[in-house]
Amino acid sequence: MENFNTDCPECIQCGFCCIQNPCYYGEWNDDYSSCNFLTENYLCSKYNEIYENEKNQEIKMFGSGCCLNFFNPMRIRKLKLK
Ligand code: SF4
Ligand code: SF4
Repeated sequence: MENFNTDCPECIQCGFCCIQNPCYYGEWNDDYSSCNFLTENYLCSKYNEIYENEKNQEIKMFGSGCCLNFFNPMRIRKLKLK
Protein backbone atom coordinates (compact mmCIF):
# COMPACT_ATOMS: atom_id res chain seq x y z
CA MET A 1 0.00 0.00 0.00
CA GLU A 2 1.22 3.49 -0.86
CA ASN A 3 2.24 5.83 1.93
CA PHE A 4 0.90 9.36 1.86
CA ASN A 5 2.37 12.18 3.88
CA THR A 6 -0.56 13.93 5.53
CA ASP A 7 1.47 16.49 7.49
CA CYS A 8 1.14 20.08 6.36
CA PRO A 9 4.40 21.78 5.36
CA GLU A 10 5.79 24.69 7.35
CA CYS A 11 3.91 28.01 7.34
CA ILE A 12 6.24 30.64 5.92
CA GLN A 13 3.93 33.57 6.63
CA CYS A 14 3.08 34.41 3.05
CA GLY A 15 -0.39 35.65 4.02
CA PHE A 16 -2.22 33.85 1.21
CA CYS A 17 -4.71 32.08 3.49
CA CYS A 18 -5.68 35.42 5.05
CA ILE A 19 -6.75 36.76 1.65
CA GLN A 20 -8.87 33.65 0.96
CA ASN A 21 -10.85 33.24 4.19
CA PRO A 22 -10.47 34.63 7.67
CA CYS A 23 -9.46 32.17 10.36
CA TYR A 24 -11.48 31.68 13.56
CA TYR A 25 -10.00 34.93 14.98
CA GLY A 26 -10.23 36.93 11.78
CA GLU A 27 -12.69 39.36 10.33
CA TRP A 28 -13.34 39.66 6.61
CA ASN A 29 -13.02 42.99 4.84
CA ASP A 30 -14.91 43.00 1.53
CA ASP A 31 -13.27 46.22 0.35
CA TYR A 32 -9.76 44.82 0.67
CA SER A 33 -10.62 41.13 0.08
CA SER A 34 -8.59 40.15 3.09
CA CYS A 35 -8.76 39.81 6.83
CA ASN A 36 -8.84 43.12 8.69
CA PHE A 37 -5.91 41.96 10.83
CA LEU A 38 -3.48 41.22 8.00
CA THR A 39 -0.67 43.76 7.98
CA GLU A 40 0.78 45.41 4.87
CA ASN A 41 3.64 42.93 4.91
CA TYR A 42 1.22 39.97 5.16
CA LEU A 43 1.67 39.19 8.83
CA CYS A 44 -1.05 38.67 11.42
CA SER A 45 -1.43 41.68 13.71
CA LYS A 46 -3.26 39.47 16.23
CA TYR A 47 -0.39 36.99 16.53
CA ASN A 48 0.38 37.73 20.19
CA GLU A 49 -3.29 37.71 21.18
CA ILE A 50 -3.93 34.39 19.41
CA TYR A 51 -0.73 32.89 20.81
CA GLU A 52 -1.76 33.88 24.38
CA ASN A 53 -5.29 32.61 23.85
CA GLU A 54 -4.13 29.20 22.67
CA LYS A 55 -1.07 28.68 24.85
CA ASN A 56 -2.72 25.95 26.96
CA GLN A 57 -4.36 24.18 24.04
CA GLU A 58 -2.89 20.98 22.72
CA ILE A 59 -3.58 21.94 19.11
CA LYS A 60 -2.65 25.48 18.16
CA MET A 61 -3.39 27.41 15.01
CA PHE A 62 0.09 28.90 14.64
CA GLY A 63 2.63 26.16 14.24
CA SER A 64 0.23 23.63 12.75
CA GLY A 65 1.62 24.15 9.25
CA CYS A 66 0.27 25.28 5.91
CA CYS A 67 -2.63 23.44 4.32
CA LEU A 68 -2.96 25.93 1.46
CA ASN A 69 0.31 25.02 -0.15
CA PHE A 70 -0.85 23.65 -3.51
CA PHE A 71 -0.72 26.23 -6.30
CA ASN A 72 -0.30 28.98 -3.74
CA PRO A 73 1.47 31.74 -5.73
CA MET A 74 2.43 33.83 -2.71
CA ARG A 75 3.96 30.87 -0.88
CA ILE A 76 5.85 29.75 -3.99
CA ARG A 77 7.17 33.29 -4.57
CA LYS A 78 8.34 33.59 -0.96
CA LEU A 79 9.99 30.15 -1.07
CA LYS A 80 11.93 31.17 -4.18
CA LEU A 81 13.24 34.25 -2.38
CA LYS A 82 14.54 32.21 0.58
S1 SF4 B 1 -0.95 30.22 3.09
FE1 SF4 B 1 0.25 28.77 4.24
S2 SF4 B 1 2.33 29.62 4.31
FE2 SF4 B 1 0.92 31.25 3.73
S3 SF4 B 1 0.40 32.25 5.67
FE3 SF4 B 1 -1.20 30.76 5.23
S4 SF4 B 1 -0.55 28.93 6.35
FE4 SF4 B 1 1.23 30.26 6.17
S1 SF4 C 1 -6.65 36.89 12.34
FE1 SF4 C 1 -4.58 36.79 11.60
S2 SF4 C 1 -4.24 34.67 10.97
FE2 SF4 C 1 -6.45 34.98 11.16
S3 SF4 C 1 -7.10 35.48 9.09
FE3 SF4 C 1 -6.70 37.39 10.18
S4 SF4 C 1 -4.60 37.93 9.69
FE4 SF4 C 1 -4.91 35.79 9.17
